Amino acid sequence: GGCNVGFVGLGNMGGHMASNLMKHGHKLHVFDISKQACDNMKSKGATVYDNPADLALKSDFVITMLPNNDIVYNTYEAMITKGVNKDTFFVDSSTIDPTVVKNIQKMICEEGARFVDAPVSGGVIGAEQATLTFMVGGTNDEYNDVKNILECMGKRITHCGHYGMGQAAKLCNNMMLGISMCGVAETMNLAVRLGLDPKVFMEILNSSTGRCWASEINNPVPGLLPNAPASRQYAGGFSTDLITKDLGLASGIATDSNSPTPMGGLAHNIYRTMKSKGLGNKDFGVVYDFIKNEKYN
Ligand code: NAD
Repeated sequence: GGCNVGFVGLGNMGGHMASNLMKHGHKLHVFDISKQACDNMKSKGATVYDNPADLALKSDFVITMLPNNDIVYNTYEAMITKGVNKDTFFVDSSTIDPTVVKNIQKMICEEGARFVDAPVSGGVIGAEQATLTFMVGGTNDEYNDVKNILECMGKRITHCGHYGMGQAAKLCNNMMLGISMCGVAETMNLAVRLGLDPKVFMEILNSSTGRCWASEINNPVPGLLPNAPASRQYAGGFSTDLITKDLGLASGIATDSNSPTPMGGLAHNIYRTMKSKGLGNKDFGVVYDFIKNEKYN
């Protein structure tokens, strides 16, 4: 039967994820600081709350899908102010620092309830189509108990290890993503300047060893892939702001573990510079335009 599921953070990702939970017969209890986001879920049958503490007390599971470390941490502090039902299982799917995850886990554990990190990859399309990959950090029992509910929103639910290890996996993947997009952008630009037809060269790249998601699915050269953000002035997609945030988190865990990440560090610097040029809200493939175009110098 359906569970009572609390959902906090109904943005680009969370709105779709909450809707998919409802499609599986769960009863949704939602909170967001955006009235519009709440109204949208209300029209689909969710119950809207004006604070996360009351929401949590009504929920078997609570899922949070929020922008950053501080907002996630503050939301969990607010969530426990009226006490916690020990049977409530808390799941954070935001992309945040593994250290913050461990602190939240401790806070929830002290209240007698359970918490795991379960960040996602797959983007807004994966959220909409319920094909997300969830990377879970917690005990074996916790993984087994959370798997079913996550399967309403994703198709691959992976146990990565203990608390924070879901975030570790997510941040390593996104560091690679940030690096590979820079690599594809400068490579495509070089090919074009050498006189190669960008479409012909993209096809060579995608049937050769340079192939990756940034070359094949989200190629940053305008006009090559009609459905990619590059073909609509880099609107929508995965923002430069978000990849910059994720590379900052990756830089933090690289520092903590004393791991050299020269390429990740360079990519982070490039995206930070792009943000300072006003490109933060564009898809990160805009790095192609940034590298190509003198106007940014
Ligand atoms: P978003 O900005 O679209 O949504 C965030 C939502 O949180 C908004 O609706 C906002 O109103 C709400 N919010 C902000 N502060 C709040 C508060 N204090 N209390 C309640 N609600 C609050 O972001 P998103 O794209 O949905 O991403 C959410 C998280 O998922 C981020 O950590 C992001 O890094 C991660 N993520 C995003 C993608 C993606 O492709 N967009 C993919 C994987 C992971």
